[in-house]
Amino acid sequence: MTDLVVVGAGPFGLTVARVMAEQGRRVALVERRAHVGGNAFSEPDETTGIEVHRYGAHIFHTSNQRVWGFLGRFTGWTPYLHRVFTVHSGEVFPLPVNLGTINQFFRTALSPDEARALIRSQASSPAPDAVPLSPSPAADAVPPGPGPASDVVPPDPGPASDVVSPGPGPASDVVPPGPSPASPANSGQESLSPSSSAPATPASPGPAPPSSAGAASDSSPAAALADGGESLDVKAVGMIGRPLYEAFIREYTAKQWQVAPELLPGAVISRLPVRYNYDARYFSDPYQGLPVDGYAALWEKLADHPQIEVRLGEDFLADTPDGGLYTKANCVGQVPVVFTGPIDRYFDYVCGELGWRTLDFVWDHPATGDFQGCPVMNYADLAQPWTRIIEFKHFHPERDYPADRTVIAREFSRLAAMGDEPYYPVATPQDRARLERYREAAKAEPNVVFGGRLGRYQYLDMDMAIAAGLTTAAGL
Ligand SMILES: Cc1cc2nc3c(=O)[nH]c(=O)nc-3n(C[C@H](O)[C@H](O)[C@H](O)COP(=O)(O)OP(=O)(O)OC[C@H]3O[C@@H](n4cnc5c(N)ncnc54)[C@H](O)[C@@H]3O)c2cc1C
Repeated sequence: MTDLVVVGAGPFGLTVARVMAEQGRRVALVERRAHVGGNAFSEPDETTGIEVHRYGAHIFHTSNQRVWGFLGRFTGWTPYLHRVFTVHSGEVFPLPVNLGTINQFFRTALSPDEARALIRSQASSPAPDAVPLSPSPAADAVPPGPGPASDVVPPDPGPASDVVSPGPGPASDVVPPGPSPASPANSGQESLSPSSSAPATPASPGPAPPSSAGAASDSSPAAALADGGESLDVKAVGMIGRPLYEAFIREYTAKQWQVAPELLPGAVISRLPVRYNYDARYFSDPYQGLPVDGYAALWEKLADHPQIEVRLGEDFLADTPDGGLYTKANCVGQVPVVFTGPIDRYFDYVCGELGWRTLDFVWDHPATGDFQGCPVMNYADLAQPWTRIIEFKHFHPERDYPADRTVIAREFSRLAAMGDEPYYPVATPQDRARLERYREAAKAEPNVVFGGRLGRYQYLDMDMAIAAGLTTAAGL
């Protein structure tokens, strides 16, 4: 048969497969999609030839020298540094919140110390009208609540890593089966805002808002507040003060979760960084960039090894009576398996479904060569139902892309239903309890390791997935 079956050809599975193949093991890499790369896949847009990230904007950044060195064997990197802007009340601000954001927002010229003192003084301000300095008109225009959840359209997570993130346990390096760390905050990836200035808001209204935001469902994050606890708004105001919270976090969060932040648990956010200097880089990692020849080329090179048999379009969990060679029924107990698909699906949802948020992308080719002047523009206000717009050509200014054409994607976020792509773990207390039961069940699976973001039910940036893959491979 083979020495090892790796299920899922995302960054985690590819890393495990590659390392094991280089050690001389025969690896079957089973992927149900038609391509390798998992959610970090990219391909040329059919109309413009511009490289687009099909499952959301992916920017590589890491502080992990080992991961950087490993990937460097398969790609060169562009010097791309990620910068994000956000539209709020018709103005464009840099994110994450830095001294430039603060001074623009309050129409001031504060020094770092003065800005620090200001934000500190606002961290306990109980209500919007208690704001000491007069904020830009935008802040006053923010209504107190997002209204009924069902009126609110899907949100979107930011590209990034630094900011607001739901996620379950900490993104640890080691992912073989075992008890959940069940810690609240993770490395995070959700951002406050995406890109581009706010030109006229072109057509596409986006997908229809879901009819129910899930605020009342016991599987929704809001349910976590049922037994009391600090709400997201209280926690966020404590971190960045009320005016900035009202402007940049409140409605954006409502779009992401389709629930008023007052109903969300504080654990949904881990931290809200404020930089008291003019450093507007989204990530501060020493290693950042985009693969010179694109993500697809990078992932294909990882998979390209004589010891790796890539099997695309095959679902390991498919019920195939005629017996696909590499299925759960045929492999488990016969050969070591690394499974990077959803852990609840592996167990046929016997303990219930784990909650995820998904994204809807609305693609467009506006009649211009430059739609927003930057790769990512967030939209902080409910007035625009999308959370951000990605304009992909700006990720590669070094490339010879058409000057008169562009491609953009508007992102909308919502709770996932069965069959939707799972993107971000919701991780309610109910989810965590279910996860514990699945992890207990996983221990009894003979020679199966559950890994990656789906197998661990954990948000992982690409570098974390690769680091975890290296660690897992070392333990096989
Ligand atoms: C919108 C968005 C933006 C992001 N932006 C960034 C970013 O800017 N920077 C960053 O570092 N990270 C980013 N990430 C995170 C990045 O996508 C993950 O780190 C990465 O995808 C994790 O790799 P993985 O291999 O664990 O999972 P995946 O990439 O999801 O790969 C899992 C693979 O398993 C396959 N599979 C599942 N079930 C089966 C089955 N039964 N049989 C066969 N195959 C199966 C799936 O089809 C998939 O290809 C972002 C994520 C999202 C959602």
